[in-house]
Amino acid sequence: MSDWLEGKVVENIHWTESLFSLKIEADVSPFKAGQFFSLALDIEGEHVARPYSCLSAPHEKPLEFFFYTANGGVLSNAMYSLQSGDTILVKNPANGFFILDEVPQSRDLWMIGTGTGIAPFLSILKTDQPWDTYETVILVQGVRSQSDMQYLDLIMALRDKYGERFGFQGFISREQVEGTIQGRIPAAIEDGSLEEAVNLKLDVAHSQVMLCGNPDMVKDSAELLKARGFAKNLRRKPGQITAENYW
Ligand SMILES: Cc1cc2nc3c(=O)[nH]c(=O)nc-3n(C[C@H](O)[C@H](O)[C@H](O)COP(=O)(O)OP(=O)(O)OC[C@H]3O[C@@H](n4cnc5c(N)ncnc54)[C@H](O)[C@@H]3O)c2cc1C
Repeated sequence: MSDWLEGKVVENIHWTESLFSLKIEADVSPFKAGQFFSLALDIEGEHVARPYSCLSAPHEKPLEFFFYTANGGVLSNAMYSLQSGDTILVKNPANGFFILDEVPQSRDLWMIGTGTGIAPFLSILKTDQPWDTYETVILVQGVRSQSDMQYLDLIMALRDKYGERFGFQGFISREQVEGTIQGRIPAAIEDGSLEEAVNLKLDVAHSQVMLCGNPDMVKDSAELLKARGFAKNLRRKPGQITAENYW
């Protein structure tokens, strides 16, 4: 049985005019890193609910979410204005199969996301599970501009903690920034520049790939990987590609 709980906003961090994070206190049931909660507000008399990946790990409190204010988006823009002490509805329990329990074991784990699609990966990376299961973890994030690349402190802390076992590669489509690749993720899978940048090969024998966020990135990357022998990961037929589309 699922239930709408009254959550309390404890912090609203405005990173940019279109990017923000909410910390929410809510008495939710245990969940798995990578799952999403439905969040809702009553907007002009209408209950408006959407799914959001949890960025905090299951052992952390409060819950944390990372949002983009979609162009004209009803719920995301309303949440941008929330202040600490405000109420937000949280559907309990969390849901979803974008979790490591669903990803087969291999040597390397690639986590590739666009924008706020990095959220489930950060939740997973804060747990022991990826580090107990995979030798190397590569996190890839694609954004439009440098200011969209948040949570770098957390990413650097993971690098300090796990050293060579953890790699991060940023993509910035509209700006040239040292250390990042300018352009789109699928193009860099296609021409090999992603593998060159992180010094690791994407290959069926050793790689599991999780894709999250923009459906064009997910589709194009999956198609390129399939051309190299990768297959979608299904419960009845394990493969190497596990995906979550945000719209
Ligand atoms: C499993 C799942 C998890 C999700 N987790 C997150 C999350 O952690 N953070 C988050 O910001 N969104 C997330 N989303 C998207 C979210 O559910 C909403 O679609 C989004 O916030 C827009 O809702 P809205 O009411 O503001 O806009 P709507 O009026 O519903 O407009 C939707 C349109 O906004 C665009 N859009 C939706 N999401 C995004 C996005 N993240 N970035 C850029 N454009 C977008 C698409 O064009 C979409 O058609 C997730 C979606 C799914 C299915």
